[in-house]
Amino acid sequence: MAGGPPSDLARRAAQIGEHAAGPAAEAVDRDARFPHEAVGALRADALLSSLVPAELGGGEESFASAAAAVTALARHCASSAMVFAMHQIQVACLVRHRGSPLLDDYLRELVADQLLIASATTEIGIGGDVRSSSCAVIRDGERFRLEKQAPVISYGQHADAILTTARRDPEAPASDQVLVLCRTAELDLEPISGWDTLGFRGTCSLGFRLTAEGDVGCIVPDSFGDVSAQTMLPVSHLLWASVWLGLAQAAEVRARHFVQKEARKQPSSVPPSALRLAELTAVLQQMSQLVRGAARELDELADNREALASIGFAIAMNALKVSAADLVVDVVNRAMTICGMAGYREDSPFSLGRILRDAHGSQVMINNDRINTNNAQMLLVHRGGE
Ligand SMILES: Cc1cc2nc3c(=O)[nH]c(=O)nc-3n(C[C@H](O)[C@H](O)[C@H](O)COP(=O)(O)OP(=O)(O)OC[C@H]3O[C@@H](n4cnc5c(N)ncnc54)[C@H](O)[C@@H]3O)c2cc1C
Repeated sequence: MAGGPPSDLARRAAQIGEHAAGPAAEAVDRDARFPHEAVGALRADALLSSLVPAELGGGEESFASAAAAVTALARHCASSAMVFAMHQIQVACLVRHRGSPLLDDYLRELVADQLLIASATTEIGIGGDVRSSSCAVIRDGERFRLEKQAPVISYGQHADAILTTARRDPEAPASDQVLVLCRTAELDLEPISGWDTLGFRGTCSLGFRLTAEGDVGCIVPDSFGDVSAQTMLPVSHLLWASVWLGLAQAAEVRARHFVQKEARKQPSSVPPSALRLAELTAVLQQMSQLVRGAARELDELADNREALASIGFAIAMNALKVSAADLVVDVVNRAMTICGMAGYREDSPFSLGRILRDAHGSQVMINNDRINTNNAQMLLVHRGGE
């Protein structure tokens, strides 16, 4: 995850977006099916191991490159980009907090076989409070067992492993959690709810009763509190925001093409919608700078665990999520005003239906209220200047 010069990762993701994800996006959304074309292409181009260090055979890309690649893919299919983003979040957690030979070996295997990792953090009865678990790891010698009622596991049935949060042991309090790599060979997923949603339909985020066992070496050694603060939370908020930025860019393209078409009808005057487009562009630029700035910061702090664990950094990364979630809806709404009926229709080249539905996923993917409540608590003790 070294900083390094910008790579061609975004260009490769854009190609996959254009040739694999984009052409299938409508069917993926309509049928709420897994975007296997896009994920197959990501695998074929070894993009699933972009964040794995070179010493383990991976691409050792920066967070800025990964974020740019996610955005490039999201312009074509936000569900594909969200799967790509969520996988990379799990990889980032394993890379930074692995500390066991078994997890090193797993990452080597991930590189060789382009394995896909899903996530089960939320739990029935706990809601979106990622820092609490009710289920617990039960150890027996060198083996562990765990069972979790997970209301949402994106692409769970298509993944090669699921990183799952649980209490450290049955006596541990709800917040004393660990992260466990549950591999499909020793994992049972019994569906308990479907995924018929407004947006992000291709993430196939069904609910499951997850039952897993395995070697205790699959338990990430660092506490989940550290994993969450230093890696999972900031990388999630950055890469989710990168998906939403791609959606906002896609809406801008449609709005711009619509305005240009209007302008061609009356070359002597500037159409009224051009002013609205100028306003949209200002908001999109704000969003773009926000996401790129956060990516740069995350790369700069990559080796600074103290800074990553600071209250100031947590507040900033929470604010990133909430701001980006609001800005994407703002941009798409502005595009809808510009395109009018052409945007509202499902059968027009300017249609914004899927983009609008996907954009609203940003608000509930860890509810903005929950994140603002966390920030409100931290601000009570924040000294500033961090
Ligand atoms: C596209 C998509 C993919 C997802 N994929 C996954 C996945 O792969 N794995 C996974 O584990 N999860 C996943 N999730 C779940 C997600 O991360 C959240 O945990 C989940 O959406 C929260 O569910 P909820 O809104 O029902 O519950 P809650 O977070 O409990 O929110 C319900 C309501 O209660 C309010 N509320 C509750 N508690 C508080 C509080 N303390 N402060 C303020 N307000 C509060 C909220 O504002 C909201 O109105 C996904 C979600 C989406 C949209």
